[in-house]
Amino acid sequence: MRTYGMDEIPYVETLPIGEKSKIWLANPWLLSQKPFKITDDVYYVGTSWVSVYLVKTDAGLVLLDCAMVETFYQVVDNIRAMGFDPHDIKKLLLTHGHFDHCGAARMLQELSGCETWISQYDAYFFTERRDLIAMEDHVPEFKIDHYYDYDQVIDCGNIQFRPVHCPGHTPGTTSLFFNVQQDGKTYTCGIHGGLGSGVLSKKMLDQQKWPYETQQIYLKSLDKVMNEKVDILIPSHAKHAVKHDILAIAASDDGSGKGFIDPDAWRRMIQGKKEEMLKMIAEGR
Ligand SMILES: [Zn+2]
Repeated sequence: MRTYGMDEIPYVETLPIGEKSKIWLANPWLLSQKPFKITDDVYYVGTSWVSVYLVKTDAGLVLLDCAMVETFYQVVDNIRAMGFDPHDIKKLLLTHGHFDHCGAARMLQELSGCETWISQYDAYFFTERRDLIAMEDHVPEFKIDHYYDYDQVIDCGNIQFRPVHCPGHTPGTTSLFFNVQQDGKTYTCGIHGGLGSGVLSKKMLDQQKWPYETQQIYLKSLDKVMNEKVDILIPSHAKHAVKHDILAIAASDDGSGKGFIDPDAWRRMIQGKKEEMLKMIAEGR
């Protein structure tokens, strides 16, 4: 694998996802991203491809996803740059079992001793179907302490994370909603656990040995959360949001964080993904 320079990011971006992710794994510096504050309690500490959010709670620091082993040094640096100690992370809430979201789980556990949550419906990725993790050789085995209970919030005192099962992208894709206080007001943050529809083409479904019906399951999940009231969208991949580029908003933020508040961004993102999938189905892909 050749070494790519930062100036080659636009070129790498144009490649198909499989090829692109291989290059990123071998050249993780291409994904380095300046961290930023979204609210007093929510920080972006991820990469330019995969999001990682740090949430400050009464029960300690919580990390939403942890990205890949290869970029873990960036996440650790980003957490420190925001004024926190990565050793203080108490909980890791994973959105799903793909390598780009959970790859660094073992490293984080070794570093902080945090407890880890994932959906029980993705648990078999880590036992009998490691191929479904994708790039599974890049994901050291890690401990799963809890499966999400979709009837119960994860209580962190001032912040309660509400997990919602959104199967489709993977069987256990989980979205998380939680309220934060900012300048005396309450805002709802929302992260959709997995929106990538590329893995749901018939060709990819065959490869994963999943039924074509998965496309309908994905659509049903989108409808299920379409009307969630979200003030601050925190996308699991920066580029999943439609007309709401969180990295661009951060770059132009005046420090008030007001740009992150957009009560229509969630609906636009979900609707955009719905249209994408309907097009895929209409074209027989
Ligand atoms: Zn994924």
